[in-house]
Amino acid sequence: MPHKNAIVVGAGILGLAIARSLAVRGYKVTVFERNEKCVGASIRNFGMIWPVGQPDGLLYERALRSKSIWKDVCAGAGLWYDEVGSLHLAYNKLESEVINEFAKQIKINGL
Ligand SMILES: Cc1cc2nc3c(=O)[nH]c(=O)nc-3n(C[C@H](O)[C@H](O)[C@H](O)COP(=O)(O)OP(=O)(O)OC[C@H]3O[C@@H](n4cnc5c(N)ncnc54)[C@H](O)[C@@H]3O)c2cc1C
Repeated sequence: MPHKNAIVVGAGILGLAIARSLAVRGYKVTVFERNEKCVGASIRNFGMIWPVGQPDGLLYERALRSKSIWKDVCAGAGLWYDEVGSLHLAYNKLESEVINEFAKQIKINGL
């Protein structure tokens, strides 16, 4: 098989996810990062993996797949994670209606 090389620019989560994805497909990957280490959004976020925030269908399926990849990566690298779920509070009537509608969908679809 010919040697496959790839270059990824940026060592944030997107760059690293792409680099990992290429590496598992047999590419020799080089990541270029303009800083000594990643200092962008990927080190400032809340660390939530939150598929429920995605709309039904392709995006939701993709989010579930991302979650399972994250779990593999964490297990492989010995990184801590906790599957705690999330708590959603309604601050007004409209938000309460949305939560109730969502809860009904869960009952209907058995999610
Ligand atoms: C406060 C906050 C909370 C968040 N919470 C969550 C959360 O809980 N869950 C979640 O999923 N998402 C969350 N996000 C969103 C998430 O953090 C971002 O969507 C994600 O980190 C973006 O990753 P990135 O790789 O695109 O960008 P970055 O992490 O910014 O990485 C881009 C990298 O590319 C490098 N770069 C850019 N240009 C070049 C160049 N020309 N040459 C070399 N290197 C270059 C930069 O130096 C940087 O290191 C949050 C975001 C914020 C701001």
